[in-house]
Amino acid sequence: MKPMYAAAPEFATSKTAVWWDMGDCPVPDGYDARRVVPSIEGALKKLDYSGPVSITAYGDLKHTPEHVLRRLSSTGVDLQHTVKELRCSHMYSDLLKWREHNPPPATMMLISDQVQSVFCYGLCRLQQLEHGYNLVQAYAHDPCLLSPLYSTAEWLWESLLSDSEPPTQFILQKCSQTAKSAMLHCRSCGFVGQCLANFTKHLSGEEHAQEETRVTQSTCPSVGPGYEKAKVMRMRINWKNCEAAPEFATSKTLVLWDMGDCPVPDGYDARCVRPSIEGALKKLGYSGPVSITAFGDLKQTPEHVLRRLSSTGIALHHIVEEVRCTLMYTYLMRWARVTPPPGTIMFISDHLESFSIGLCRLQQREHGYNLVLASTHASTHASTQASVIVTSAEWFWETLLTDSETPRQFLLQKCSETGESAVLQCSSCMLDCQNLEMFTKHLSGEKHAKSDFNMIMSTRRRYEHKQSEEENFQRSKRLRKAFRTGFHFGNYFRITNSGSRRRTRFQK
Ligand SMILES: [Zn+2]
Ligand SMILES: [Zn+2]
Repeated sequence: MKPMYAAAPEFATSKTAVWWDMGDCPVPDGYDARRVVPSIEGALKKLDYSGPVSITAYGDLKHTPEHVLRRLSSTGVDLQHTVKELRCSHMYSDLLKWREHNPPPATMMLISDQVQSVFCYGLCRLQQLEHGYNLVQAYAHDPCLLSPLYSTAEWLWESLLSDSEPPTQFILQKCSQTAKSAMLHCRSCGFVGQCLANFTKHLSGEEHAQEETRVTQSTCPSVGPGYEKAKVMRMRINWKNCEAAPEFATSKTLVLWDMGDCPVPDGYDARCVRPSIEGALKKLGYSGPVSITAFGDLKQTPEHVLRRLSSTGIALHHIVEEVRCTLMYTYLMRWARVTPPPGTIMFISDHLESFSIGLCRLQQREHGYNLVLASTHASTHASTQASVIVTSAEWFWETLLTDSETPRQFLLQKCSETGESAVLQCSSCMLDCQNLEMFTKHLSGEKHAKSDFNMIMSTRRRYEHKQSEEENFQRSKRLRKAFRTGFHFGNYFRITNSGSRRRTRFQK
């Protein structure tokens, strides 16, 4: 099932802008084009959107029948003639311009099949950076994949159109009521007008044909996954960690630390880990409480390391590598459920991309979680990778550990201050331990070894099973990526409100 949430109160009466790709989602043959506007408005109204709606349609209008243009224009649809190659680019730049002039709250509706392939990356980052814009979508073909882009409602174009009543007195009356006359643009030549006869005359003229040939040959699109990523990468060359925004300065910070990716270096005093993390955060102005949970194969971790981490109040979770990311993700989602924003989430991991879809959606859905990252991986830092996830600060793990100027006195005092007993948990056995002796004894036991083995085997079986299913399901490329990176559990899908179709497909 596609998401279909009623308008949140702030969007119920605010404006909605619609960008409609007529190439992907045309007016069907024989369909009265005057029904398009009431269909879109009707679909929105059903979800309680009752604010003003403006619609801009993009397409090759030279080849659109004149009666379609007339009927769209007469119902208040702005028409933009653009060559196919630049259609998405024009839509996206118009969307950006619209956001500049229309502060939130407001709703954006995209009617296009290119959202996943072209808009997703840029729009995802935009939605994380600037909150208060609600997104809804319609498309001719269901992309059938779990997208990092979060929208609150999605329609199939044809069913959206067919849900409306045939034109009636009401619609005709409605049309004549449209105070603002629709605009007609030729994006190739910069022609702007309101008279349809002049517009169609322009589109069929020689001058327009010449200009269009020139435009098609000389311009490359300024929107698309490659372009957007390049833009972010350029930004990242001058990467600088941001100071904590006021709302995060005193709010909670959750640290999820993958000890497999980012271990305590040999010879490093594990008691310095917590003050180093807190020190790095403090330098940026974060002074709220910090809770740190470490995930790793703790059977392989020296006991003195466990003792020192635990003594500084770091919760320790034993988990086999195969499900580490999944457990961390589940843990994060559980935390988010009980910790309303504002809050900061710090990942210490080289696998941020494993979390990207879920994290991205969380960021857009909840607004108000701030992400920071530490990793050993040069490629997640600064210049080389352009993640779809927006972070406000990033560190190299080793630099973070060695940068802190933590006088020993402070450190020891700090440690002894941690009154709470640290959590020691074995996730293979679902077991909580009271003290470290019991914990290490448990980890070296035979019963535990069996649990670890069973956990690994069942994960592999599940993974292989999913993989064979995936091979039969060619379209869901992104989903396949998600599986490879660790999201092959039912709970992931429950958490992210993904479609029931996927759910039934991939659950055992
Ligand atoms: Zn033109
Ligand atoms: Zn165990």
